[in-house]
Amino acid sequence: MIACPRCGKNALEEERPALNALSRTTRTSEDTPVYVCSPCGTDEAMQDWLQGGATPQEDWPMDGFAVPDMVESIQRATDLAITEKLEELL
Ligand SMILES: [Zn+2]
Repeated sequence: MIACPRCGKNALEEERPALNALSRTTRTSEDTPVYVCSPCGTDEAMQDWLQGGATPQEDWPMDGFAVPDMVESIQRATDLAITEKLEELL
């Protein structure tokens, strides 16, 4: 297992790398791409929106998410949408 470098807890998707998130700290053409787990990707997006930028890599691994309530509610809404879609297919 490869742990997410940002939270140090969640496993990165190795078989399906597209399910990880490209960190917002590595979005210029000079940056080496760094992937984080999907919840960290959501957390970085919320930081960008609410706090004007994601936590820099020198402050990783983080002690929990920066905007945990938002990450949790977005994750729950996503899980619910997927569950409803699957139930439609059954
Ligand atoms: Zn993470």
